[in-house]
Amino acid sequence: MKCQHCQTNIPDHLVGPLCPACGNALGPITPPDAAGPLKAPRSYWLALWIAFLGGPALGILALKFRVTPGFLVFPLVGAVFSGYYLAKICKRVNLPFPAAVVIFTVCVLGIYTGIMFFGCLAVVLTSGIGR
Ligand SMILES: [Zn+2]
Repeated sequence: MKCQHCQTNIPDHLVGPLCPACGNALGPITPPDAAGPLKAPRSYWLALWIAFLGGPALGILALKFRVTPGFLVFPLVGAVFSGYYLAKICKRVNLPFPAAVVIFTVCVLGIYTGIMFFGCLAVVLTSGIGR
């Protein structure tokens, strides 16, 4: 038989629970990545985009209607959820899940900060507030 892990042909008299060449379990064919499908479910991507865009959108609405804490809270919540779903989608990241969530959240906050900086710059330049 042929080992599904290393593709070595194993003579019948050597076939056992483990492959003699690579040490992986022989037996019923399992998906190449037993940890789970590499493709993240679409719902994760959907949730990611809703969180990623919805957080700042609610924040801008909060700013417009002068709900002071909302301006900061909504994007923060959006960033945390984005970080959570990014960590779920990027399963191949070799980190403990909570650490991955924190790192992705910080990255998303960095993106927000960049967008807000240029957004504010554009508003200031086009509205003439700075003049
Ligand atoms: Zn093998």
